[in-house]
Amino acid sequence: MTTVLDRLHELQVQVPDMRFLTGPDIPERNRTDWSFLPPSSPVAVARPTSTDEVSKLLAACHADGVPVTPQGGLTGLCGGSRPIDGGVALSLERMSGVERIDPDGMTMTVLAGTPLETVQKAADEAGLFFSLDLGARGSCAIGGNLSTNAGGNRVIRYGMARDLVLGVEVVLADGTVLPMLNTMLKNNAGYDLKQLFLGSEGTLGVITRAVLRLHPRPGCVSAALCVVDGYDKVLDLLRTARRRLGPMLSAFEVMWDDYWYQATQRVSGVRAPVEIGGGSHVVLVEMQGLGAEVDTPRFEAWLEEVFASATVTDGAVAQSLGDIAAFWATRDAAAEFANPAVIGPHISFDVGLPVKRMDDFARESKAALERELGCQSVHYGHVGDGNLHIVAWVPGAAPQPLPEVSRIVYDIVRAYEGTVSAEHGIGTLKKPYLGHTRGPDEMALMRRIKNCLDPENNLNPGKVFD
Ligand SMILES: Cc1cc2nc3c(=O)[nH]c(=O)nc-3n(C[C@H](O)[C@H](O)[C@H](O)COP(=O)(O)OP(=O)(O)OC[C@H]3O[C@@H](n4cnc5c(N)ncnc54)[C@H](O)[C@@H]3O)c2cc1C
Repeated sequence: MTTVLDRLHELQVQVPDMRFLTGPDIPERNRTDWSFLPPSSPVAVARPTSTDEVSKLLAACHADGVPVTPQGGLTGLCGGSRPIDGGVALSLERMSGVERIDPDGMTMTVLAGTPLETVQKAADEAGLFFSLDLGARGSCAIGGNLSTNAGGNRVIRYGMARDLVLGVEVVLADGTVLPMLNTMLKNNAGYDLKQLFLGSEGTLGVITRAVLRLHPRPGCVSAALCVVDGYDKVLDLLRTARRRLGPMLSAFEVMWDDYWYQATQRVSGVRAPVEIGGGSHVVLVEMQGLGAEVDTPRFEAWLEEVFASATVTDGAVAQSLGDIAAFWATRDAAAEFANPAVIGPHISFDVGLPVKRMDDFARESKAALERELGCQSVHYGHVGDGNLHIVAWVPGAAPQPLPEVSRIVYDIVRAYEGTVSAEHGIGTLKKPYLGHTRGPDEMALMRRIKNCLDPENNLNPGKVFD
């Protein structure tokens, strides 16, 4: 009987540049992602160097019914890139590099395995700006960002990953290559097929290349940390920032007092530029302007106004790029929470809620978690985007009670008419709760689309839905 490994050996002869890692050579990191799910047992990790190799691999796996899980930087938080036991992990890591920057069209063509930070730097060196930014920027890859429709820090101004893509090259489950590398901002010729692959978590096709949308490099950046007493004042601040800074408002990140304590008292190397009392929120406001002469005074005038009106009770204004980095360090500190010296194993959420009700939700879910499970929680989020992050943990519990904690949080999300995922995706962790946010007809249509593109259910099966 021909085994999967026999087939991969045969394939290796056709595609000598593709590397297959098997048995003890399979790296630990390719067995799971940042979801805290235990490592799985793929039969091999395939490391292609070209779209043609990806196509041949997928065609062979399609013919033999072998499940394939695409992998980018493996920083996903919900199990999407964790391979299927007995399947093949398809790592895009060797397909990395910026192929072309078009300063007139404001586009960049990249291979899918390119780390996000490399994309950001390449844009900057060309005098341009790629706006997608998140804490995992050094490790995540652009293909993973697009497959999860990543959000991050500057959605309020530039939109999510979906808004930053003009074209993609995709390989379907049967090996068909779709070279949809559109470079034009406007293209209404029929259905916009690329959207199917953005945010579908590797279940409909493998992205191998992308044409990204660039923006002008900001002429100046201003930032402040504002201490605000009460969520009503947070909303006042957001309203005035939108009105006075207009489209230059590039981040509005809110940290609740419980989060602020963990980030600034427990994470090594992060200092607290402002002191707060219980019940306060700290808001990181960033403005990307055209030029310091005109726009920095505009930012300062707005700050004076919000201090004078007592919307803000205390604050710190960045005087240098170092200060801006220190402010962002308080927000990026969440990446260190998994460290046992800080919080250790925990369950993280990226729920979406009506902006007005985010604080009510935070209070209600915090109280319910504490009351029912003795579960601690901290809150922070991209409030301008209606996206709240919760980090929840039951002290000393191993493993953490994922189903019980999830049920409490997602039942309240449903009651608030929110979404179980604002930006991280569904993967396997949130599969049981997709129906909290999507209706039966929507889910049936999703299944029909999956069935149409991947009738044998080989591409990342068991992710998003069964
Ligand atoms: C510290 C930290 C901070 C984070 N902050 C944010 C944040 O602010 N906003 C946010 O949205 N996310 C955030 N994340 C989550 C994560 O970084 C993003 O989801 C990221 O977009 C995943 O990219 P990746 O390359 O690591 O993808 P992976 O984890 O490798 O894969 C994610 C999913 O995409 C699929 N996939 C990967 N590559 C491809 C491809 N080429 N073609 C088809 N499918 C593919 C996988 O099968 C999987 O389903 C954070 C994670 C960490 C660890």
